Amino acid sequence: MRCEMCTRRLGSREIAHGIRYGTADPVSDLFLPSKESAYTVICQTCGELILRQIYSRLNKPTSPQYHQ
Ligand SMILES: [Zn+2]
Repeated sequence: MRCEMCTRRLGSREIAHGIRYGTADPVSDLFLPSKESAYTVICQTCGELILRQIYSRLNKPTSPQYHQ
């Protein structure tokens, strides 16, 4: 299996990230992945890159808020 972002081949037991789409349940406050949603698999390096972008944005008080 290859990382779908950088196309690097994933080694065995290498940490990877799986992205799915779905909905948020307002009652339980849980993420409910859609049954039709397959995982988009990316390697740890790409995953950390994306997480850094997400969380650095959250830490800025003047940044725009998405999907409230
Ligand atoms: Zn990658």
